[in-house]
Amino acid sequence: MADYKAPLKDIRFVMNEVFGAEQLWASLEGTKDTIDIETAEAVLEEAGKITSTLIAPLSRNGDEEGCTWSESGVTTAKGYKDAYNTFVEGGWSGLTGNPEFEGMGMPKMIGAQYEEMLYAADVSFGLYVCLTSGASLAIDAHATEELKQKYLPKMYSGQWAGAMDLTEPHSGTDLGIIRTKATENGDGSYNITGTKIFITGGDQDLSENIIHLVLAKLPDAPAGPKGISLFLVPRNKVDENDVVGENNQVTCGSIEHKMGIKASATCVMNFDGAQGWLVGEVNQGLNAMFTMMNYERLSVGIQGLGAAERSYQNAVAYALDRIQSRAPSGVVQPEKEADPIIVHPDVRRMLMTMRAYNEGGRAFSTYVASFLDIAKFSDDAEQKKYASTMIALLTPIAKAYLTDRALDCCIAGQQVFGGHGYIREWGQEQLVRDVRITQIYEGTNGIQSLDLMGRKIVANGGRFYEVFATEVAEFIEAESGNAALSEFLKPLSASVERLSDVTEAVINSVKDDPNAIGAASVEYLELFGLTAYAYMWAKMVKTAAPKVSEDEFYASKIKTAKFFYSRLLPKTVSLAESVRSGSEDMMSLAADQF
Ligand SMILES: Cc1cc2nc3c(=O)[nH]c(=O)nc-3n(C[C@H](O)[C@H](O)[C@H](O)COP(=O)(O)OP(=O)(O)OC[C@H]3O[C@@H](n4cnc5c(N)ncnc54)[C@H](O)[C@@H]3O)c2cc1C
Repeated sequence: MADYKAPLKDIRFVMNEVFGAEQLWASLEGTKDTIDIETAEAVLEEAGKITSTLIAPLSRNGDEEGCTWSESGVTTAKGYKDAYNTFVEGGWSGLTGNPEFEGMGMPKMIGAQYEEMLYAADVSFGLYVCLTSGASLAIDAHATEELKQKYLPKMYSGQWAGAMDLTEPHSGTDLGIIRTKATENGDGSYNITGTKIFITGGDQDLSENIIHLVLAKLPDAPAGPKGISLFLVPRNKVDENDVVGENNQVTCGSIEHKMGIKASATCVMNFDGAQGWLVGEVNQGLNAMFTMMNYERLSVGIQGLGAAERSYQNAVAYALDRIQSRAPSGVVQPEKEADPIIVHPDVRRMLMTMRAYNEGGRAFSTYVASFLDIAKFSDDAEQKKYASTMIALLTPIAKAYLTDRALDCCIAGQQVFGGHGYIREWGQEQLVRDVRITQIYEGTNGIQSLDLMGRKIVANGGRFYEVFATEVAEFIEAESGNAALSEFLKPLSASVERLSDVTEAVINSVKDDPNAIGAASVEYLELFGLTAYAYMWAKMVKTAAPKVSEDEFYASKIKTAKFFYSRLLPKTVSLAESVRSGSEDMMSLAADQF
C-alpha cells in the first residue's frame, strides 16, 4: 500500500477558500474568541502528521491479526494500545468536546477534516476514538451536571472510552421493540439487564474504563419507540473519588468474525444487573440519541470518504508505476517494454471518477459541518433556524451518498490494480471490505433514504427542500454573469429543476400510494446527492477560476469539475426516470412468488 498523505492542500482549499472558515468563525458568537485560522492550521498539520505516521502503519497488521476474545476481555491488535496512548495524549479524543469539561471546543468543520484523515489512516482505529466523541456529545447534551463532571473530562482525555449500545439480536432498525430492562434502585441509579449485539468497542484493552450509553425500557414504559430511555453504564464502577473499581456486571460475551474493520471489536455485551444512570428524560432516549445522530451520521459519511481517498492515493501510485500495453495515442515511454497504465482512457475513467466523488464529498461534508457549527455557535435565531433545516435535510444524504460513492470508489481503486487488487498485499481489497460497513451501520442507507424522502421531504410538503433549492437558485442567479461558470450553470440549473419536479411528483403520489415513498427513496437520494455535488463543484469552480494561473492545483480543479459535469451528472436523467416509475412494478409479485 502506498504511504498515506493527508490531502491538506485540498482540505485547506475547501475549508478556507470555498467555505470561508475564517470569516465564518469570526462571525459566530461561540467561536469568534476561541478559534482562528492559525490554530486551525496547526491542528490540521498535526492531524496530518499523526494519522500518516502513527495510525496508518497499524492498518495492515490490524486487519490480519484482528481482535481476540477471552473471558477476561478483548485484546486489540499489536501496536494499537501504544498508538492509542500516544494519540490520546495529544488531546485528540476531546478535539470538539465542550471546554467547560476540558474538551478543546474545536468546530465540526475542523473535526470533519481530522476525522477524514483518521479514517483514511485506519478505519478500525478511528472507530475507537470517534465512538468516544459521539458518546461524549450525547452526555454533554443530555446528562445531569454531576454526570458530566464525572465522566466528560476522562472521556475527552481518552482515559475512558465510549460505546453506543442500541442493537439487540431481534431489534436493529426497529428499536421500538428492544427488550433490555431498566428498574429504579431507589438511590437515583437504575438496574440494567439485557443483551446488546454488534457493539463497536464494547470491550477493548485500550482505555481504563468504557462508558456505555445503553437504550433500555422501564417496566411501565409505553410500547414502541416512545418507551425507550437512555442510560449511562460504566463497564467498571467508579467511586466518589473517580477511582475505577470492580466490574459493574458488564461483560463481553463474544466478538463477531466479520468481513472488514477486523481490528475494531464488535461485541456481544451482557448487562446483568449493571448499575446505570438516566441520561435525559425518561422515555426520551431516542430523542437524546438523535441529538448526536446528525454528528454521527456525518462522521460515518466521512469514514467512507477517508477509505475512498486512501484507495485513490494507492490507485494513482499504482497507475503511474504499472506498465501494460501502449498508449492508444502513441508510445509514451519508448525506453520501456510498455507504457504506464495511467495512459489508458478506462484507467483514467476510474481515477477521475474517484477524484471527482472524493473532492465533491470533501466539499459536501465540510458544507454540512459548517451548518452544524452555525447551529451550535451562532446567537442569531434566523441563522440557527436556517442551519438546522439544512442539517435535517442534508444529513441522510451525507451519510448514505458519501458511503455509497465510497464503496464505488474503493471498488474502482481495486479495479485499477487488476488481479493485484484482489490480493491482500496491496491493501485495496481491505479498503473494499472495511468501507462496506459504512453503508449498513448508523441506520442502513435504505433507512437514510426513507428518512430523507419521508420525514425530511414529504412530511413537511417539501418545505425543507425549498430552502436548499432556493439557495442553489440564488447562487445560479448571482453567478449568471460569471464567464468561468457559464458551462456549469445550465446543467446545474437543469439538475435542480429535475430534482424539484420529482420531489413534487413523489409528494403528490403519496396520497394514493402508501408504497410511494419507499419505492422512490433510494434513487431519489442518489439524484439529490448528485445535484448537491454539482452545486459543490460549481462553488469550487467559482473559487478556483480566478487563480488558475497561480497554481496547477486550481487548473486541476476546473478539469475535474468538467469531468464531473460531463460524465457523472448526466446520471440524474435516468435516476429521475426511475423515481417517477412508482411502486407498482416493485410490489407486483406476491411474497410467495419470490
Ligand atoms: C460491524 C458492525 C458494527 C456495529 N456497531 C454498532 C454499535 O456500535 N452500536 C449499535 O447499537 N449497533 C451497532 N451495529 C448495528 C447496526 O447499526 C445494525 O446492524 C443496523 O442498524 C441494521 O440493523 P439490523 O442488522 O438488525 O438489520 P434489520 O433492521 O433487520 O434490517 C434488515 C434489512 O431490512 C431493511 N429494513 C428494515 N426495516 C425497514 C423499513 N422500515 N423499511 C425499509 N427497509 C427496512 C434494512 O434497510 C436492511 O436492509 C453494528 C453493526 C455491525 C455489523
